[in-house]
Parts: sequence; structure tokens; C-alpha cells
Amino acid sequence: MKTGFIYTDAYLDYDYGPTHPLQVTRLKLTYDLLKSYGLLNLPSVQSISTVKAEEKDLSGFHSEEYLNVLRQADEGRVSGNAYSYGLGPGDNPIFPGLYNWSLLVTGATLQAVDFVAEGKGEIAFNIAGGLHHAMRARASGFCYINDPVIGIMRLLRLGKRVAYIDIDAHHGDGVQKAFYETNRVLTISLHETGYTLFPGTGFEHEVGKGEGEGYSVNLPFPPGSDDEVYSWAFEEVVPGLVQAFKPDVVVTQLGVDTFYNDPLTNLHLSLSGYERVLRRIKDLAPRWVALGGGGYNISNVARAWTLAWAVMNEVELNEELPESFLKEAVKIGFETGELKGPLRPPLHSQNEETRTEMERVVRYINETVLPKVKGKPPNPP
Ligand SMILES: [Zn+2]
Repeated sequence: MKTGFIYTDAYLDYDYGPTHPLQVTRLKLTYDLLKSYGLLNLPSVQSISTVKAEEKDLSGFHSEEYLNVLRQADEGRVSGNAYSYGLGPGDNPIFPGLYNWSLLVTGATLQAVDFVAEGKGEIAFNIAGGLHHAMRARASGFCYINDPVIGIMRLLRLGKRVAYIDIDAHHGDGVQKAFYETNRVLTISLHETGYTLFPGTGFEHEVGKGEGEGYSVNLPFPPGSDDEVYSWAFEEVVPGLVQAFKPDVVVTQLGVDTFYNDPLTNLHLSLSGYERVLRRIKDLAPRWVALGGGGYNISNVARAWTLAWAVMNEVELNEELPESFLKEAVKIGFETGELKGPLRPPLHSQNEETRTEMERVVRYINETVLPKVKGKPPNPP
């Protein structure tokens, strides 16, 4: 088995701002932890330096007017109507180089796609990617360019069938919307319910439209949902859907903001629950393009994506974090010396109501949505 890891220190040239929850240093921290564990020197691993996407790659999905606004913002010029494209102080700040940042992130996703599509390996991971909220002509939820959509579009052009699985705490709304009316992409999003969390969508009755009916699947979890109910619902729904659809490639958004101590969300997963889900994805995916995503506790981000990479490469890691890593990491606020930390979040998180609600959602999907999902149609005679 071969795997590709895409990264560059050039990410650190960009900064959403000192008070913004998305801190680019989390990528470097992850890279450092991977390296300290020796996970980039494995015989199976190819390290790939990120190359920017080309402008034409973006215009396959985003509108030309919107891209122009981003280009102007990149040069520090703010056009009068930036607000109407979702830009401005708050979630999607205008910072120097934001367009170039987006080209880098998207470029890494396309490199991951090419690595897998060209058969250089079975799995590729772009930790900087997964910016799943960006819309065709609007920045949203810290995302300017929707790299998952652009990556999936390239796979479609290559004739691949794609299942997209999004385990970020937030609904993968931008990706769902892009493929809402097609049966060539199956999107599955597991997230905290839109009743309590941005972007306020992703309910189970959002199932796709026209030819795409049945090919958008949503598992909205109540706040406080823990490992147990999360992996139960995953197991009840995701393997059946993927097996029915028979994708050539699985693209995942592996957001790590589902943990009980994430500052922006209310799910109660632990790293052990996260690992369990990743192992299942690995079993299910014939080829796997893995993207990063949210995650606002930097100690969680580095540990979770290191664990993810270990799962992808079938390596077991020591629970003690390498000392060489910790010495530097504590200086920027790293909070723990253990890889998975305590096995379970606080016990009060799981309750009967959560279980009953998720049983209802799972039943709805398996009775109403799953029967609509079909595998590849046979070739005409
Ligand atoms: Zn998120």
C-alpha cells in the first residue's frame, strides 16, 4: 500500500487574524507531531510538497465575479460589495494573501486527487483542505474556496464515482449543495444538528432532488452525542449506503471539532470514538482522498490527524507523545502528553433522549433514503 501526504510550510505565511478560531499553526503542529512519530518516513509514505491550484480549476465551480472579488481582496483592495460575497470582519475576514491561501489549499486537494486517481497510491491526505462551507459565489464559515467540491469535480471528469463522507461537527452544506441534483456523487454528512449549530442545515429530510434524490444523506446529532451513539449511527447507516452506491473513490472531510472540549461545538466525542470511525472508513473505501476540516482546540487537531494518518498507514502509535515534540508544543499551549487522552468524555453526555432521536433518524434514512441509492448502472450492450 502507498499513501501520499501533502503539506508545505508556506501555509504559515497566512493568518486569519489573532482572534480568529481557525489558527493556521495547527497545520504545522500536526506536521511536527507526525514527523516526531516517524510517520512521514514509513516505506509506504510519499511526502508531497503543496503546489497551488490553477485559476481554471476554481472557475469550474466558483463564479467569475466572486473570484474577482477574492483576487482584489488578496491585493488588499476591498471592493464595495465584498459583504454581499460573505467577506468582511468576522467569520471570513479579508486578510493579506487570502486568495493565494485558497489556491494552496485547493492545490493540495487536487494533488491528493491526482495521487489516488493516477494510481500512485490508495490513500492521500491533505490536512489543510476540507473547506466545505464555501458556496459558488459566497465565502462562508471560514471557507473561501470549496476544495472538496473542486476535487470531486475533477474525479467526476475522470469518470470516477465518488462517495463523500463528512464527519466535521458542522454540516457539509457547500458540498451537499453542489451535488444535490446528481446521482454521480453520494454525499453523507454526520454533524451536530442545525437547530443548535451553524450553518443551520443538514436535516435528515434533505435527501437530494431530481436525479439526485436519495444521494444526499444527513445524520444530525443532538448536542452532547458521544462516541457510543455516534459510532452506532455511523455503523447503521454509512456502510450500507457506501456498499449500495459502489464508489470508485471515497472523499472524506475529517473535521476534528466533534470533541467534547472543542470551543465552538457541542458534540462529545473522544479521540477513541474518532479513531473507531476512521477505521471503518478505511475498510469501506476502495481509494481514499482524505481532507482536513474544522477543529479549534489545537491539541486535539494535531493528535486527531496524527491518529488518522496512523490508521491510514496501519501503524500503531505509542500513547505517550514524543518528548521532542512536546518540548516545543507546550510553548504554544499544547495541553496534554497523551495521544488519545482520557478514553471517555464526561459521563453525563449520553442520555436516553439522544438515543431515541438517533434511532428515529437512522430508521428514516434506512427506510426512505437507502432504497433509492443504486450502484453503477450496467454498461449498455
Ligand atoms: Zn466544523
